[in-house]
Amino acid sequence: MPDTPLDPVVDKRLRGIRLAKRIYAPRTLGLLIGGLCIGSALHELPTPPWVWTLWALQILLWSHLAYWRARHHASPYRAERQNLGADSLLGGFWTAAMHFNLLPTVVVLTMISLDNIAVGGIRMVLRGFGLLAAGALIGMWLITPGFPGVVPSVAVLLCSLPMIIVYPLAIGYITYLQARQLSRQKTTLMELSRSDGLTGLFNRRFWEDQVAANLPTDSPATIALLDLDHFKRINDEHGHGVGDQTLRTLAALLRQSFGDDVLLGRYGGEEFGLLMPSTSLDQATAAIQRFQQRLGRSPPPSPLSRMPTCSVGLAAKSPLMTNHEQWLLLADQALYAAKHAGRNRICIDGAPRSQTTLDLG
Ligand code: GH3
Ligand code: MG
Ligand code: MG
Repeated sequence: MPDTPLDPVVDKRLRGIRLAKRIYAPRTLGLLIGGLCIGSALHELPTPPWVWTLWALQILLWSHLAYWRARHHASPYRAERQNLGADSLLGGFWTAAMHFNLLPTVVVLTMISLDNIAVGGIRMVLRGFGLLAAGALIGMWLITPGFPGVVPSVAVLLCSLPMIIVYPLAIGYITYLQARQLSRQKTTLMELSRSDGLTGLFNRRFWEDQVAANLPTDSPATIALLDLDHFKRINDEHGHGVGDQTLRTLAALLRQSFGDDVLLGRYGGEEFGLLMPSTSLDQATAAIQRFQQRLGRSPPPSPLSRMPTCSVGLAAKSPLMTNHEQWLLLADQALYAAKHAGRNRICIDGAPRSQTTLDLG
């Protein structure tokens, strides 16, 4: 059920697994090309067999083991942060195993810091430095390194190039993909936050915001509040599902009848708001009349024999209005008058206190 809010514990777990998934491919790639860089430096030193074994095991197994561990951990997020800590610790160890050969050491430090900053910002980088230093101390204790010359050999230089070139590109590309996905999600969320779930029209808050934004503009504008007549009977006689379908049918009809210039919102249960910019009361009245006639001819959802009629209250913007609530109140009073006068009609409350009723019945 996509719209059920997630249990926070489940949500945190999913976020942790997503993080582990995101890191899995770059870690696998980083281990392969970073392994080449480290291996070239180890090759030029009297590296003991157990160090080579550790080197091979890390390249071949570590990314899969780290991913598996995070997925099966009670807190995948915490496990993945620990995995990143292990990356730093092991990275520190390799710098000592390479006797701090300058180029591969800088490459290892930079790439591990790149991972850390991408996941946890400055704090994670600082923690990473601590672990890198700890790993280097462990390495020095186990291996007793010497210090090679500052200038790397051509072989070490060449074997470091893939890591220097490919890894930052891979991380940059992943960041780009994430930014694109985030921007899409932002657009979807924005659309969801302004639309009504049942009809897809604007929701009341967004629609009212548009009314408020229109008020200070100079051009004329009219709002209409439209309420279905005796809608409750449809629910009572045919059930809520048919009622919902009727609301959707009405919303679709509104969309087809009014161009993009008219802002359509669901104002309440079976009440809709129309903001008609650059539209006089006369033009709005004519447009609503055409809509009411179209509604009468439109096929209803089964098993209804006809669509319900609607009553409409219209109000034009006036320079005397100081806030949009006054404008809405006029339309609401006009709608009330239309209901009171027998429904299926339009009431107009434009110029203060003058009210006209158009009976379409
Ligand atoms: P009137 O002509 O005076 O407007 O009568 P009415 O029956 O249309 O108005 P009333 O306010 O008495 O009832 C409105 C009904 O609309 C009651 C409520 O259950 C129903 N309703 C509100 N929102 C929804 C919805 O999303 N789906 C369905 N199916 N019904 C809804
Ligand atoms: Mg009604
Ligand atoms: Mg109503």
